[in-house]
Amino acid sequence: TGPVTEAVLGALAHADSVRRLGVRANADTPEDAARARALGAQGIGLCRTEHMFLGERRALVEAMILARDDTARDAALAALLPLQREDFTSILTAMDGLPVTIRLLDPPLHEFLPDRTELAVRLASTVDPDPHERELLHAVERMQEQNPMLGLRGVRLGLAVPGLMAMQVRAVAEAVISRLGAGGCPHAEIMVPLVGTVEELRLARAEAERVLDEVAAETGTTLDCPIGTMIELPRAALTAGRIAEAADFFSFGTNDLTQTTWGLSRDDAEASFFPLYLEKGVFGVSPFESIDQEGVGRLVELAVEAGRDVNPRLETGVCGEHGGDPDSIHFFHGAGLDYVSCSPFRIPAARLEAGRAAVAARAGTSDTR
Ligand code: PEP
Ligand code: MG
Repeated sequence: TGPVTEAVLGALAHADSVRRLGVRANADTPEDAARARALGAQGIGLCRTEHMFLGERRALVEAMILARDDTARDAALAALLPLQREDFTSILTAMDGLPVTIRLLDPPLHEFLPDRTELAVRLASTVDPDPHERELLHAVERMQEQNPMLGLRGVRLGLAVPGLMAMQVRAVAEAVISRLGAGGCPHAEIMVPLVGTVEELRLARAEAERVLDEVAAETGTTLDCPIGTMIELPRAALTAGRIAEAADFFSFGTNDLTQTTWGLSRDDAEASFFPLYLEKGVFGVSPFESIDQEGVGRLVELAVEAGRDVNPRLETGVCGEHGGDPDSIHFFHGAGLDYVSCSPFRIPAARLEAGRAAVAARAGTSDTR
């Protein structure tokens, strides 16, 4: 190692010795998990499961969501289970005992459904169309949404597709058991996305606990798997006290929370009037990049406080893009969060920044940069 590397390692070691915020990674492949660990991540704060349902598995997902009958859906779920078990086992292996927060499926539905126009054109140009394709088109038409990001996503999808949550929770449980069998000490957590009311979380939690108990009984093992929720809707933040009754942890999804608090589409933001707003000074910086302290940040503070009042052991973190943004990290330190979670490549900078935030707070200033 050269002098520069040594200086960087020294700065990181110092930051680690003073920071209060934990630093985890957003990772959903074993490769990313290994990279994150090598860069000092103390766990995975967000393992998104959406990408695990794309590619070759797409046909199974279509069959699951558009299932004509229970048998077709159950067959698709049964085929997905071993694949998901392997997904989770490999990530738990890469993290070797560090916490891994696995989020239940949260796709905007349109990303999984076949394209309606393509399907219609194909049907129209076929002399003797397959009746299954016609049925598929009808199903896709029934499920079209004007605002997929505000539609059948997250916990709503989990509650709407029978067996989906159970399949994912079983895959997590079986992955944990497999790691235990290999002598590891896996630490998996289950996270429910897009919760807006405690009732949704209660339903999801009951289903998850039922499956965990089932797998524990089948294998004669004790499974200790915390169950928590994303806080990414203003209603969730405003009713955080109620939601904390059913949650072991909160993870703030500041991407969606920014979208829904501001009423700004996260997918269109960069392309539309943002440059104008930046130029006119409506924003100093995009609220999707750096936490909007008065609005979104305020909701985070309210929710942390209300959640901890109800459940003093509630763990709190942030896993939106803001978790890797320096100014936002200072804010999250001040808000008393337990950890930030960010892309693996931002881990070293986040460790440094968390250290700076701790020093600045001790010195009574908001910044030491
Ligand atoms: C979020 O909304 O901030 C989040 C982390 O979830 P996703 O980006 O996957 O919607
Ligand atoms: Mg989200």
